[in-house]
Amino acid sequence: MMAAGELTVQGEIRRDEPMSRHTSWRVGGPAEMFFVPAGLDDLALFLHELDPQTPVFWLGVGSNLLVRDGGIPGVVIAAARILRKLEREGPYGVRAGSGLPCTQLARQCIRWGLGPSEFFAGIPGTVGGALTMNAGAHGGETWERVESVRTIDRFGEIHERAPGEYSVGYRSVVGPTNEWFIEALFRFEPGVGANKAELEAMLERRKATQPLGQPSCGSVFRNPPGDHAARLIEAAGLKGHAIGGAIVSRKHANFIINTGDATATDIEELIEHVRQTVLEVHGVELVHEVRIVGEIPR
Ligand SMILES: Cc1cc2nc3c(=O)[nH]c(=O)nc-3n(C[C@H](O)[C@H](O)[C@H](O)COP(=O)(O)OP(=O)(O)OC[C@H]3O[C@@H](n4cnc5c(N)ncnc54)[C@H](O)[C@@H]3O)c2cc1C
Repeated sequence: MMAAGELTVQGEIRRDEPMSRHTSWRVGGPAEMFFVPAGLDDLALFLHELDPQTPVFWLGVGSNLLVRDGGIPGVVIAAARILRKLEREGPYGVRAGSGLPCTQLARQCIRWGLGPSEFFAGIPGTVGGALTMNAGAHGGETWERVESVRTIDRFGEIHERAPGEYSVGYRSVVGPTNEWFIEALFRFEPGVGANKAELEAMLERRKATQPLGQPSCGSVFRNPPGDHAARLIEAAGLKGHAIGGAIVSRKHANFIINTGDATATDIEELIEHVRQTVLEVHGVELVHEVRIVGEIPR
C-alpha cells in the first residue's frame, strides 16, 4: 500500500521517473509522478482520488512517443502490464486488453485462424497505442477491425463505446477527451483465415527495409496523399543528415535514429529541419505521425 499525498493505492508510485527508460527512442525527461497500477480497480481508485487539476498522460510502450527533455508534468500512467486480456468471443471476435502487445495479438489470431490480422505483427506497440493511432501496416488498419471499445475516464468510470463515437482517419482518431482505452473487441472476417507464411514474409521485408534494432519510433511523418514521406525526404538529400546524436536513417529515410547520445531536443530539431527542407524542395508540408509531448527544458 502506498500513499502519495492524499492518494492511497496498491500500485507503485515513482517520482521523477526518467521517461528515457520508457520510450523506444530512449530519450525523454522525467515524469513528475509515474504510476504503475496493481489492477483495474486500483487504477480506477487512483483516478477517482487524484486531484482533478493534475494532468494525466497515458503511456503504452512508448514506440510512437517523443518526450521532451523537460519531462512530463503531472502523472504518467503505465498500465500496460495489467491490461493483457486475450480471449475469443463468438466465432470471429477477439477481446484484447489495451496493454497487450500487437505482435502477441497477431500471433494468437494466426493460431486461431482469424484474419486479416497479420498486419498487427508489424506494430511494436500495444493494442491501446494502436487504437489511439489507428496504427496500420501492409494495407490493414486497426479500426477496420474494431467492434467496440471499453474506456476509463479521468474519474475512474468505465464506458462501453461504439466505433461511431470516434472520428477515425489515417493515423488519426478523435473521440471523447480525458478517456483512455482499456480493452477492445475486434471482429475478424469469416472465411479469410490468417496466413503464418505471409506474416513471416512481411516481417522479413521489414527487416530488409527498416533499421530495426536501432532506437527509433518507426515512421516519423505520415505519408502525404498519393506519395511517401520517405521518398520525399530521400529526394531532398536528407539521408544521413544529423543533429547531435540524431540522424536520418540511411536505410529508411522516414526513420530518425538515436545513435546513442541523442537528446529529445536533437530529435525534435532534426524533425523540424526535415519538415522545412521537404517544404522548400518539394513544396509539400509533412505532418509528423509521432506524438511529441512534455516540456521544453528551461
Ligand atoms: C520500428 C518501429 C516500427 C513501427 N512500425 C509501425 C507501422 O508499421 N505502423 C504503425 O502504425 N506504427 C508503427 N510504429 C509506431 C508505433 O509502434 C505505433 O504507433 C503504436 O501503435 C504505438 O503504440 P504504443 O503502445 O507504443 O503507444 P505510445 O507510443 O506509448 O503512445 C502513443 C500515443 O497513444 C496514447 N496511448 C497509448 N495507449 C493508450 C490507451 N490505452 N488509451 C489511450 N491512449 C493511449 C499515448 O498517450 C500517446 O499519445 C512503429 C514504431 C517502431 C519503433
